[in-house]
Amino acid sequence: MTKCVKTECPVCGPASRTSVGECHNLPIVRCDVCQLMFVGKCSTVDETEEFFRNEHVDAEETTQLHYVSYRSDSLQREAAMVQRLVPNGGRLLDVGTASGYFLKEFQGAEGWNVEGVEPSAVSTNFARDQFGLNVHQGYLPEQNYPTQTFDVVTSLDAFNCHRTPNEDLAEIFRVLKPGGVFALEVPGQNYRMLTGSGMLCRLLFGVSLRLNAGVNFYFYTTSSLVAMASRAGLEMVESHPEAMPSHGSLPARELKTAYFHATSLLYRITSGKIHYAPKEFLIFRKPLSAADADSSGNVSGVAQKHAA
Ligand SMILES: [Zn+2]
Repeated sequence: MTKCVKTECPVCGPASRTSVGECHNLPIVRCDVCQLMFVGKCSTVDETEEFFRNEHVDAEETTQLHYVSYRSDSLQREAAMVQRLVPNGGRLLDVGTASGYFLKEFQGAEGWNVEGVEPSAVSTNFARDQFGLNVHQGYLPEQNYPTQTFDVVTSLDAFNCHRTPNEDLAEIFRVLKPGGVFALEVPGQNYRMLTGSGMLCRLLFGVSLRLNAGVNFYFYTTSSLVAMASRAGLEMVESHPEAMPSHGSLPARELKTAYFHATSLLYRITSGKIHYAPKEFLIFRKPLSAADADSSGNVSGVAQKHAA
């Protein structure tokens, strides 16, 4: 029997909350302080982690090959952006590698040494067998990487699935070298609510909330991620709009492309203030001065005020 535990707002902790509705029989709530939406009660962290190891991805064909190939434009764009930010290459860790299509973009690129961590056994084996990638099955904290190991850490369309986001951000901060880049792709919250709630959602799908609860636990806004990353010691340096997976009929794909271009333009001219893009690609950096915090074992933002 699955045990349910109450979750907290990852930004505000045990603040009061308001019910938004239900999705997949799980309560969706909104934090009264910061307005972040999240799954209010769900299975334990251990049970969720077990689900992602063994159950979530069970068929290579549909879940990995097709879905990820629909994302190839986004993944190529994001890989190019990382390579622009870190022109000399370095050691890169992708957290939530899925089938490895993103890491594949770095194969043959000079100066890069890339590896991944992926909970799903099926996905890990796929990435190893198909592309010969170095992927460790499991979760980031289990890898016990030494402090300051990586020049880049990436997380693409995976962070919403993390049950312990603040702990994971602290671990990402720890394994990054000072000056290192953390690149994070997340779904756009306005786009999500536009397509996953309200009249249109009820009409098209017969449900009032379509948020993939139970696979996704937190429905982040840009400001909530910036607040959490900043608390972990990471500074946001740039952000970009990203596209949704390109599948469906030709007219549907053309409509998606048109929507992406229109919302991208709006995003760019308002510097991200009007964000209806399907996804967002956020770039954070670990400050160079963070070397002090690492050596003292203190990863709080406060310690970084002491310049190196
Ligand atoms: Zn909150």
